[in-house]
Amino acid sequence: MAKLQSIPKEDNYLHKGLRKQLVQTLRNKGIKDEKVLTAIDNIPRHFFLDPAFERLAYEDRAFPIVASQTISHPYTVAYQTQLLEIQKYDKVLEIGTGSAYQACVLAEMGITLFTIERQRELYDYITDFFFIKKYLNIKRFYGDGFEGLPSFGPFDKILITCGAPFIPPKLLQQLKPGGIMVIPIGDDGKQKMTKITKDKEGKLYKQEMGDFSFVPMLQGKNSV
Ligand code: SAH
Repeated sequence: MAKLQSIPKEDNYLHKGLRKQLVQTLRNKGIKDEKVLTAIDNIPRHFFLDPAFERLAYEDRAFPIVASQTISHPYTVAYQTQLLEIQKYDKVLEIGTGSAYQACVLAEMGITLFTIERQRELYDYITDFFFIKKYLNIKRFYGDGFEGLPSFGPFDKILITCGAPFIPPKLLQQLKPGGIMVIPIGDDGKQKMTKITKDKEGKLYKQEMGDFSFVPMLQGKNSV
């Protein structure tokens, strides 16, 4: 599949109208955080997809990107972001950059984002992408999300956007007291969305939400 475009694409009235409808769909499905809805309204999702999917970009669907990976459903992006209870100036770590759509939604909310991708092909896929250059608050890393980024932590919030077999202990260590981690936990194909809260004393609380389906969180880097 072709690289994401380095030349700016058009965001016309049709796209903007479809985006307003998508935001309404997300409201109807229970997303209430206005900062999340505004960020989704501001980000042209069709920029992140192959031109073949342009007309479908604003349906609540996941789509294939490169390397057998997917750009998550807008509802999943909105739901995970809402659970993070984002505050301006938060320092956030994301595992699984993928298309960087989720990364841009977070960056649009005025935080500093550190994001890790384990697949070289995907990491390179967005390097020249014109839209991501707008966000100087996104720092991208090629690496293994199980390791996190110890030298940049601790983080106020940690978001995992792939299905994790367990809670990576190093990520828990890199979560600040008072911080929130959102992580889908489970086997390939089906995961329980889980919210972990660390209180000021470092005590952990776990809250399980609904079922979701993510590509798996895999160990190690892939250099192909
Ligand atoms: N947030 C992305 C979703 C991408 S799908 C988006 O908005 O498009 C999940 C991504 O997690 C894939 O790109 C996959 O390669 C990546 N991934 C899986 N295991 C990982 C790991 N251990 N470390 C970092 N990224 C990982």
